[in-house]
Amino acid sequence: MQLHHIANADVASSSGRTIAVLDPSDGQPFDEIQRGTPEDIDAAVHAARQCFDSVWSRMAPVERGRLLQRLSQKISEHAEELAAIEQRDCGKPTRQARADALALARYFEFYAGACDKLHGETIPYTDGFSVLTWREPHGVTGHIVPWNYPMQIFGRCVGAALAAGNVCVVKPAEDACLSLLRVAQLATEVGFPAGALNIVTGYGHEVGDALARHPGIQHISFTGSPKIGTLIQQAAAERHCPVTLELGGKSPQIVFADADLDAAVPAIVGAIIQNAGQTCSAGSRVLIDAMIYEPLLERLGRAFEALRVGPAAMDLDLGPLIRQSQQQRVWDFLSDAQVAGIPLVAQGTVVDEAPETGFYQAPALLRDVPPQHRLAQKEVFGPVLAAMPFDDEEQAVQLANGTRYGLVAGVWTRDGARQLRMARRLASGQVFINNYGAAGGVELPFGGVKSSGHGREKGFEALYGFTTLKTVAIRHG
Ligand code: NAD
Repeated sequence: MQLHHIANADVASSSGRTIAVLDPSDGQPFDEIQRGTPEDIDAAVHAARQCFDSVWSRMAPVERGRLLQRLSQKISEHAEELAAIEQRDCGKPTRQARADALALARYFEFYAGACDKLHGETIPYTDGFSVLTWREPHGVTGHIVPWNYPMQIFGRCVGAALAAGNVCVVKPAEDACLSLLRVAQLATEVGFPAGALNIVTGYGHEVGDALARHPGIQHISFTGSPKIGTLIQQAAAERHCPVTLELGGKSPQIVFADADLDAAVPAIVGAIIQNAGQTCSAGSRVLIDAMIYEPLLERLGRAFEALRVGPAAMDLDLGPLIRQSQQQRVWDFLSDAQVAGIPLVAQGTVVDEAPETGFYQAPALLRDVPPQHRLAQKEVFGPVLAAMPFDDEEQAVQLANGTRYGLVAGVWTRDGARQLRMARRLASGQVFINNYGAAGGVELPFGGVKSSGHGREKGFEALYGFTTLKTVAIRHG
């Protein structure tokens, strides 16, 4: 049975209750986590505050960096163990689970090196004054993490928050907590002071809500659905607490007739099947130049038909979805599409070895999806790719920008001037031209516009969000 991690100790919830952890590959329970309470959150925030006041805020940045580097090293040494935990907890195929563990180590490596490089400025001002700025940590930061990439999302928000000098209280998703509880133990082993990193598990409406409302939390970062993002921002607004929100997307891949299709096809398929489509940056729409609509759909269709889905340990193209309600959500989208007469081009296969009690979904490619249909507008969060044609650049931009989201856009063209025009006109936090893999780079700032959220994580930019700027003006005559 798993326990909370508070002040470097493994502790039970004050509720005395637990939540069963299911393996998405067979739908069966295999572990239990604590069902946390607002009192548990309070204990974690208190421990964090004590650590901040007595140890963390006095530690030299270079020392903080060394601790983060030691954690990065430790995560690397335990990468196989962490990948195995994530695989079972989230249903991730082996290669994807390994990639997530290595990405976590890389986040801590990157942010370890950044700790002592976060400088302020001196600002020229009126004669007789010297003016300087300091980047100061918020203090205790709260982090609400979803189930789709627990290790990666923890790395990008907690790594940056610690590097900027904050201490953290983390609420992982009730569906996938186990890797983060193990990482917190590793942090203790490498010498993190008690209270620097605390993890409280439980349901969102219980502990997530308590974390967002807690007066001792000075910044909240949230990754998840727009609906809950709104609740987080409302709760934080009550006490004017800054918020970073990452709320997913309906990201388009825009393919012009002059594109290198040999490069584009695997990238387009990979961007919708990674983690069974349960990825905030999933490329879930493909907008295709009418001149190549039919031949490209044919190629994509062949690639979809070859995809295989099965238990995470089989390490196929896709594993299961996280839970039964997510499977139901994808079914609902597909049956709506069928009722609307949207043609199915191709579908992958769920292998015979997949237990019937697991949460499997064959990836599906649909064509001629009307731009206003919910399949073209809403985040499915499953392996479903919606294709539609466009006649010219203007229409491509209209379609790409025509949803409430703005997270990532992929553009495939050899025309350099068009690349830049598209990059300027797309309402999106990230534009990837002739690639989609850059979404994985830990150095690259990441975040959304419109309902995809606000604030930036990853890269050096994240450090600005996890600090507040103090201006010091000295009059010296
Ligand atoms: P969710 O937004 O409900 O959950 C995300 C996190 O928020 C979890 O840790 C959850 O416990 C917590 N939470 C839930 N209710 C809360 C509340 N009232 N106060 C504070 N925290 C709360 O997401 P979900 O239900 O797990 O998934 C639903 C949909 O959200 C998905 O189908 C997908 O479209 C989207 N989603 C997006 C991302 C992303 O990476 N952007 C991640 C997960 C889910």
